[in-house]
Amino acid sequence: MQIPVFDGHNDVLSRLGRHGSAAALSAFMTGEGAVHLDMVRARQGALAGGLFAMFVASAPDAAIAGNGQVSIPTSPALAQAQQTVGAMLSLLVRMERQSQGRLAICRTADEIDAAMAKDALAAVLHLEGAEPIDTDFEFLDVLYAAGLRSLGPVWSRPNAFGHGVPFRCPSSPDTGPGLTDAGKELVRACNRLGILIDVSHLNERGFWDIAATSDAPIVATHSNAHALSPHSRNLTDKQLAAIAESGGMVGVNFAVAFLRPDGRRDVDTPIDLVIDHLAHILDRVGENQVGFGSDFDGTDIPAEIGHVGNLQKLVAAMRVRGFGEPLIEKICFRNWLRVLRRTWRT
Ligand SMILES: [Zn+2]
Repeated sequence: MQIPVFDGHNDVLSRLGRHGSAAALSAFMTGEGAVHLDMVRARQGALAGGLFAMFVASAPDAAIAGNGQVSIPTSPALAQAQQTVGAMLSLLVRMERQSQGRLAICRTADEIDAAMAKDALAAVLHLEGAEPIDTDFEFLDVLYAAGLRSLGPVWSRPNAFGHGVPFRCPSSPDTGPGLTDAGKELVRACNRLGILIDVSHLNERGFWDIAATSDAPIVATHSNAHALSPHSRNLTDKQLAAIAESGGMVGVNFAVAFLRPDGRRDVDTPIDLVIDHLAHILDRVGENQVGFGSDFDGTDIPAEIGHVGNLQKLVAAMRVRGFGEPLIEKICFRNWLRVLRRTWRT
């Protein structure tokens, strides 16, 4: 039996945004030229919904070396970031319009439940890196009104709000200073609005700044266990304990660089490594606080998974590992719905 999957992170808006909106839109609907995620494959894999990230590329684009490490990129300027995010938001709004009820932008947990009940893809708007947000938070209000319900203060680069964690392996996540004062203000503003705060691209000091500042569950939408893959982007057991204590959760990332012990960008990576990370995090945080955060269309994933149409292979792998059906349902969607409802308070 297929189990619906709610996914903590995809980058389809970034992928499509590079190709002009009309052509990109039709490709998403029909599945033409897809890399990881489109409407046709989403249905095949029983994707029920997820966090759709808006991301503004660095200026200039950072060169990614073969070893998965990246030089520290420069943050985009405010006006350019706002323009890019406006275009991505428009793309998602047009997807919803063109889908004729098969995709719904969801702003409350009840709306996600309703979308899932009628088999529509539940899209939650996420901002990956707060570069478009001014320090008076005017644009934050605009984005919230447009549907923004999840935000990572930084991507893996510094900005006005804090210092992202650079991509390094092996490396501790403790790579530099954490949130700025503006970053802490942003966390408080998100708490007031009920916007989920994502720690996935923060370094360790930024993580602890959020733990100390935020009154919401700590959520890493797309990160893995540092004990299994010693990448700077992954979470130490101490961080996992803090996430557990806050009532937050972790979405396990399919990025091969964050799954593999050697951190290599090699897609010849067994699907079982995803289950290993799930099992490790389950041990640390309990069964109500872990799910998926695929990073579809944002990274290199195991060839065995390939695209969203094969999500049920993960369900099969969990069954082989002896996970019971109630636990599988929690990992696939119930935990995400619980943490979103608790964070949004609606
Ligand atoms: Zn990311």
